[in-house]
Amino acid sequence: MTQLAQYDVPMGFSLDGHSIYNIIENDSNHAKVETDLCQGHIHDDYLYHYHFSKNYPYTFGCHKSKIDYSLQPRTTPIRQSGTPIKVNEKTYSKSKAGWIVLDYFSNGKKTVLKYRGSSTNCYDFQYINNKNIQSENYCLKNK
Ligand SMILES: [Zn+2]
Repeated sequence: MTQLAQYDVPMGFSLDGHSIYNIIENDSNHAKVETDLCQGHIHDDYLYHYHFSKNYPYTFGCHKSKIDYSLQPRTTPIRQSGTPIKVNEKTYSKSKAGWIVLDYFSNGKKTVLKYRGSSTNCYDFQYINNKNIQSENYCLKNK
């Protein structure tokens, strides 16, 4: 990746907001970078930034700034999680009616789980187990 990336464009951004650049410096002679313990530094017109390296740990070793976890993306579950089950021989497919179909075997019994979007932010689920069909509908809750 470092061989493909440009030198004057960040290759990524760390959780603390600082940019991450290639292993060599963004100047005309691509001088070897001198960095602090976190593999970052300030120079020229650049704000503090990190660099990748050819040696361990290959990327920054610590965060220079505090991470604001309130800015991190979050998801809201549409239902309570269940108990994990042991599954084998699973296949995914999509039906003509728009169902995403998961066929699997659990404890030697074939089970089918189907789901599809039913309206904006709502999903229909069907659990077919020993020819018993259980239908449920869940909608994303507003934050
Ligand atoms: Zn630099």
